[in-house]
Amino acid sequence: MSTKTEIETKLPVRAIRISSGFSNYKKIKRFRFLNCFVKDLKNRISPYIHKNLQFLMDDKYKFEKTYNKFNNKNLYAWEVQTIFTDVCEFYENRIYQLRKGLDTSVQSGYKITYYKKKVTLKNGITVKKGSVKDFSIKKKYNELGKIVKLLTFLDVDNLKKYDGTKFYGSILYWQKHKHWDRILKLAKQINSRLFSKVNVIEFSTGTYRVNLKGDEFIFDESNKEFKHWFKYDDIFYPLLINKDYHKNLSKIKTEKNKQVTVKVVGKRVDFIFTNDYEPKFKDFVKCVGIDLNIKHNFCTTSCRKSIDFDRKYLMEFILEIKKIDKIGYQNLNEIQKNKLKKLINKNEWYFKNLISQTLDFLESQGYTDIMMEDLDTKDFRASIVSSEEFKEKYTRLIRLLRLGNIKKWMTEQAEKRGMRVHTTPPPYTSQECPPCHNIDRNNRKTQENFECVECGFKDEADFVSPVNILNRFSSNVLREKLHKKDDYGRLSPKKISREKLKEFLSSFHIPLTKVSLN
Ligand SMILES: [Zn+2]
Repeated sequence: MSTKTEIETKLPVRAIRISSGFSNYKKIKRFRFLNCFVKDLKNRISPYIHKNLQFLMDDKYKFEKTYNKFNNKNLYAWEVQTIFTDVCEFYENRIYQLRKGLDTSVQSGYKITYYKKKVTLKNGITVKKGSVKDFSIKKKYNELGKIVKLLTFLDVDNLKKYDGTKFYGSILYWQKHKHWDRILKLAKQINSRLFSKVNVIEFSTGTYRVNLKGDEFIFDESNKEFKHWFKYDDIFYPLLINKDYHKNLSKIKTEKNKQVTVKVVGKRVDFIFTNDYEPKFKDFVKCVGIDLNIKHNFCTTSCRKSIDFDRKYLMEFILEIKKIDKIGYQNLNEIQKNKLKKLINKNEWYFKNLISQTLDFLESQGYTDIMMEDLDTKDFRASIVSSEEFKEKYTRLIRLLRLGNIKKWMTEQAEKRGMRVHTTPPPYTSQECPPCHNIDRNNRKTQENFECVECGFKDEADFVSPVNILNRFSSNVLREKLHKKDDYGRLSPKKISREKLKEFLSSFHIPLTKVSLN
């Protein structure tokens, strides 16, 4: 298949953070002062916007010009404007979210469907012709609903001020309606309920954006300690560069008018650049299926490689976590909390290292693409400590080891190597028989062995899943039907129910007589 895709203009944006290296107090002072000042300024702007939400809603651009009320000698006018616009955006988002839940549609009736003939359902029950099959409430978003919705955006007490707008005509039209007063009242109620849910936003940081002139980013080969510098207000700030993380550093161009976010974190300053991020992938050669199976080993591949983990290490880790579990997270003292943090970090490092080994191997075999299951990416940290009793169940183990992050780590590392990571829905990858596609729980009588109840195909269970996973990529029909594809040709699962998925996969089942085993 061709994986070279047209790259659309909309590129994902990746933030690149660069921390300042050692900076003496004097150097950092300027930023610390600004940080406090900006925080204070935001907290003065915020109540002002809150008081004028209707103005913001009515005419955003006109309202944003009122930023000049907050001009001061510590910041340039455009800096104040940026901060003001940012705070406006916080309020807009809040209102937008509240509006999303707003329903002004009108209930218009019921919809009932009936069985047209006698049917026997899956659960064995037989229903008569004419029995109720489905029942739902019909809603209509009618003209009345529309005008109410429109009015909830407006300053209902001063509708005249909207004279000249596109929608003023419909206001005039509806004003003749006999229930106009009731319509107004309803809109007003909705409006005030909505605004009452918007609280004054309080800002706890003075993070702000700096407009660049284009000459701030400096490279100094001759300096032994720091080669990269950021120049601001004629002060030079050394930058800590991490070779791996900042691989594409040359791409950070401090173009004129581009902005960098400045964040004061304790004694250092973080400069956050947002760059259009364009992953660079290798041309497609071949794809491998991998199953992250943690029970017996770390993972197995469709090319029959098994990558194992260090059992001794893992057991020790589990024992340590078990101890913390017993105490309960709420009861941990600072030392214990730190210990837990260290444990989790160490474990993260351990698994990232395993991923790196796996990718080394796959790369050496010439693979450019990886198909794996779409594992849950939730942060399981809370559940590590909340569960009452430690049982080494599979799901529990995943949580303990924070394996919810594995997909993320795998993707990050693979992309750095130019390899695409595709994901497929996890159900049935371990129950399906690769040659005959029969899906049956009984195909897997034990954890170790796979034996198809239909065709008798036998294999080590761990090597069956990666083959099925790969097949979701290799089969044109499965690839198209089960996945969506992004601009870079990366697949991810389409939304599809378990039942539908099983039904679909089962349609590939070849009855026993047609399979030839060799
Ligand atoms: Zn079979």
